Amino acid sequence: MKKNTFHKILREFSSFLLFFTVVGFAVTCCMMLFLTVLSADTGIVYTSENIENAAKITFLNVVIITVLFKTADFIRRKIMVDKPVKMITDATEKIMNGDFSIRVKSIHGSGMEGFNQVGESINAMAEELSGIETLRSDFIANVSHEMKTPLAVMQNYGTLLQAPGLSEEKRIEYAKTITESSRRLADMMTNILKLNRLENQQIYPNLAEFELGEQLCESLLQYESLWEKKNIEIETHIDDGVFICADGELLSIVWNNLFSNAFKFTEEGGKVTLSLTADENYATVKISDTGCGMSAEVGAHIFEKFYQGDTSHATKGNGLGLALVKRVIDIMEGEIGVESTVGVGSTFTVKIRRNANGLEKDG
Ligand code: ADP
Repeated sequence: MKKNTFHKILREFSSFLLFFTVVGFAVTCCMMLFLTVLSADTGIVYTSENIENAAKITFLNVVIITVLFKTADFIRRKIMVDKPVKMITDATEKIMNGDFSIRVKSIHGSGMEGFNQVGESINAMAEELSGIETLRSDFIANVSHEMKTPLAVMQNYGTLLQAPGLSEEKRIEYAKTITESSRRLADMMTNILKLNRLENQQIYPNLAEFELGEQLCESLLQYESLWEKKNIEIETHIDDGVFICADGELLSIVWNNLFSNAFKFTEEGGKVTLSLTADENYATVKISDTGCGMSAEVGAHIFEKFYQGDTSHATKGNGLGLALVKRVIDIMEGEIGVESTVGVGSTFTVKIRRNANGLEKDG
């Protein structure tokens, strides 16, 4: 028998014993009082008059005992029911008004286990809500901050464009800057929407079989003009025929972001390496670069929303790319890790299941 069940039975039994003793005591007192009053007047001769007299005194005794019990019960209710209920209603009212710092204190004593359980659940709920509130306000602050810079740029260059007698060269330069800023804003909005959809789990893995090497090459080729411009060397080691069953569209978010970062953070003349290996169950993709690398401190935060470790490239991103990557990997129940050395480069390693059929469709 479990220890908890044993304690429960013991508690019920002791409460039964208590009731039995109290009721037994009251009934015995009444009976004894009745008999004492009866025999005090007439010895063992019972007349209707002394029976009535004894009954009246016993009745009065019952009334007094009832009042005593009622008072004791009233005090018990005040301490064991009304006080905890007030604590709970006060706490829930404060939570309703947005104060998530409130915590219900536990009450010691037997019979308070139920209340303490409710209190613990309320405390857990308040903690969870406070975390969500912090995330929400941080998110709004970050979005507003990220929007301010491109909007200010657009405003300033828009004003400059209105100046009379502007040379053709300047006009094109200002218009380009405005286009670039609006592209940044649009990119950020697209990423926020994607992240929101992924976080609210409105996207379900849309499984299909495809060759992973082919998808990686397609994604890499999108950056051809960039690597040619920066004279970056490309090296690939791709195992042939690595077919996987996964959501290709979701997975392409991962490769696009990892390649985009690799090319962004690698200086001219550097190198980006792609490798794909697989065993029976898992496919492992490594994307390495010889870029600026990152410290362990930066590495610990890169998957957080809006985090940008390298501010010199801040205008080319918004810190949402790796948050998106991490979310996709989590949905696919895969793994992602990074090894990096400042000034030497970084390697991102992604491990995913070759057959995602085992994943829960609603994950
Ligand atoms: P962003 O779009 O601003 O680059 P990410 O979420 O993609 O945002 O990346 C977050 C941060 O992670 C970057 O600001 C950078 O500090 C770091 N980072 C990501 N990839 C690399 C890389 N290949 N080399 C060096 N640092 C990187």
